[in-house]
Amino acid sequence: MSESIDARKSLSRRSFLRAAGFTAGALGVFGAAGMLSADGWLEPADAQAAVDEHTAATYHQAHCEGNCSLKCTVRDGRMCLIQPSEWDNPKDRTVCLKGLAEIEHVYSSERIQSPLKLVGERGSGEFVPITWDEAWMEIADRLGSLREKYGDDCVLYQSTSENDSTGLLPSIMHMQIGLYGGIDYNYPNGIDPAFGYPFALYNASPETLTATRTLINFGANPYESDLTRAGYLNAAKDAGCELITIDPHFSTTAGKSDHWISINPGTDPALLLGMATAILDNGWQDESFMAANTSFPFLVNASDGTVVRDPVDPAKLVGLTEAEAALITGKPYIWDTVSNSAQLFDAAGVMPALEGTFVSNGSKVTTVYSLVKENAKKHTTSWAAGITGIDESAIVGLADKYANQKPAVLMVGYGSADKYTNGDIAGHAMTVLAAMTGNIGVEGGTIGAFSNNYVIGPATLGTWPLPEDAAPSPSTMDIYEMPYNENNVHAIVSFGDISNRVANYNVMTEWYKKLDFILTVDPFYSPSIPYADIVLPACTRFENSEEIGGVKVVYDRIMLRQKVIEPLFESKTDFEIERGIAACFGLEDLLPESAEEYARVRFETGEGFDGIAFDDVIDNDGIYALPFEPFIAFTDQIYATPSGKFDPYYETLLTYGQALPTYEAPGEVYDGNPLADKYPLKFCQPRTRFRLHTQFSDAEWIRQFLDDYIELNPVDMANRGLTHGDTVEVFNDRGSFRCPVHANESVRPGCTRMFEGSWPKYLKAGHYQTVTNDRFAERGYVNWYGTMIPYNDTLIEIKKAGE
Ligand code: SF4
Repeated sequence: MSESIDARKSLSRRSFLRAAGFTAGALGVFGAAGMLSADGWLEPADAQAAVDEHTAATYHQAHCEGNCSLKCTVRDGRMCLIQPSEWDNPKDRTVCLKGLAEIEHVYSSERIQSPLKLVGERGSGEFVPITWDEAWMEIADRLGSLREKYGDDCVLYQSTSENDSTGLLPSIMHMQIGLYGGIDYNYPNGIDPAFGYPFALYNASPETLTATRTLINFGANPYESDLTRAGYLNAAKDAGCELITIDPHFSTTAGKSDHWISINPGTDPALLLGMATAILDNGWQDESFMAANTSFPFLVNASDGTVVRDPVDPAKLVGLTEAEAALITGKPYIWDTVSNSAQLFDAAGVMPALEGTFVSNGSKVTTVYSLVKENAKKHTTSWAAGITGIDESAIVGLADKYANQKPAVLMVGYGSADKYTNGDIAGHAMTVLAAMTGNIGVEGGTIGAFSNNYVIGPATLGTWPLPEDAAPSPSTMDIYEMPYNENNVHAIVSFGDISNRVANYNVMTEWYKKLDFILTVDPFYSPSIPYADIVLPACTRFENSEEIGGVKVVYDRIMLRQKVIEPLFESKTDFEIERGIAACFGLEDLLPESAEEYARVRFETGEGFDGIAFDDVIDNDGIYALPFEPFIAFTDQIYATPSGKFDPYYETLLTYGQALPTYEAPGEVYDGNPLADKYPLKFCQPRTRFRLHTQFSDAEWIRQFLDDYIELNPVDMANRGLTHGDTVEVFNDRGSFRCPVHANESVRPGCTRMFEGSWPKYLKAGHYQTVTNDRFAERGYVNWYGTMIPYNDTLIEIKKAGE
């Protein structure tokens, strides 16, 4: 074992070249300078006929929603060219800057070269390199004694989109995996219950957007962060769709839109509720659609807001848990205008009243639609204008286009209003708008994200068979709640960097320091690494010890992870590391013997591969297009809710006053918050095309185009005596960090913008997540996807550093 070192400093250029397997001969071909610049090894393939050269394909990242298959050219053992794989359909030939930058990034000086053991304080980054055998012994010893003392569920497993593991490890070791797993699903929290289905994600094929005439984009920025989706938006625009972007800032997508409407951050629910009122005020609603296809005619008890239902047949509840039983509801009633009485909604021959107040069994009842109209009185267009900062006429104009220039889409992304405490209310308000106008279940008219990552394709992979008792231990919360609540987690096993999954970073790192053991698996020295006790160097998706490292089926395609290059340094694949950890506890036989075996079994036990053999995919250069027809869900107007109707009335939220969407201000960035006297600026951290959360932050080819700075409107710069490029301190009561400030008129006055994913080493000091808000909305605990971190719901102040 060698002396204590800073692992990053250990990555000398010399060791990098040695570990990468470069020989003097190879250097002689390309020249030493050529190894670290684009000269020589990026020449066209036919420029160096004598070299050993081959191509292989791998799928790339998932969380950008791209899932591109990349054709990689390898010359003398080094990846030297990345191109989109050659599909029949040109729309699938995609690659972005991040994919292209892998030629350099894979060989980054931030690669972890060997297993590391922490010898200093957690967070110090003082590691010594150890052998793999020493690493396995440490893991067996430390995790083993914790599991013995506290039980299997004392280990929390986390993984990120960068890793390509099987995900079987937490099942065979009965680790916890956290309760929710999502940090930007607040829109779906509000949208999906109305469909009874994860509709916000699995909504419709993006190709169907060519039928859309009005697309209102709420804060998504696909032209930056979801480039493959941007292509579909271009096609929609070419087909005549009017694209309108609502965003506090002039985003890249706003620049590609027909209209950009700047909104006061965190007030999207007010805009949507104001639009609903405008539709009612102007009689633009589609009452026949509401009566036929939605829950709006359902009767509600005027006294408590509960839906009037048939009692549940007790026989249906036999053997169910309390939670399962709670999901079984009786059939709702409507007011039948033929018999002038309450009748089951699906009784033969009934003609439901859409609105009105009635007496049934001595109780006053009304309809959901009557409550919608009542609710609208609280959310007038002039009120919405005051909250959002948008002209009342613009709100009415938006409502007009949405209701009358149909089919129309309300588009969301992952981020934007998801990162405010009231994001779920915005999603919920969208369902009311869709119900009122019939913009659901029709081609070109829906609500959703339109990322091809989430479109249901024609085929799905199967699973690896595990023993019956193999399952993660139940979790009662997610990692971002653990510092504040009692739990049994004493150790974390993390595949990838989890530093961006938390807010109020100082609190989180204090919690990390109290844990008994942290194991992190990562190709790169990412921001989480200094808190790990043991760090294991993982391969990137380009490196493999086997010829086939994985298979993926997304949307309309099968993609293989083929070996592009041999593992660099001492890295191992995620699969090998999973098996290694399992072997520490004698559990490796529960896993496949090889990544290829796992891929083949999943393929062979999958569905929708009729007529396709696994070897066909190999023979077809690791990619295979599946026959696929674009689709849109629920065109039959039968929804996945218990009643089969589109149902924006959420009884589960009655106690929160949110059975229908009712405006609540964001948690921190609301106008009039006294905290704004101290911290007047609203902190927003959108995504950028240069990074994927914290991934690619260290990619040198990308860093030449993106420094890590915070942006401010020139007016706010002047008010603080700041000059473009000054180093500033960004702070609030939670924490602070330092970085350069840039003036940008695209940023709304009173706000700041900083692209998420900065690594602390690229800031002047601190971590940008130390200032972010960790106050969750209580109703999140009953929402489908749980509590969400309100990252953007954050007030800060900025001053010149050192003042
Ligand atoms: S990062 Fe870029 S190249 Fe990679 S999958 Fe996403 S869009 Fe494709």
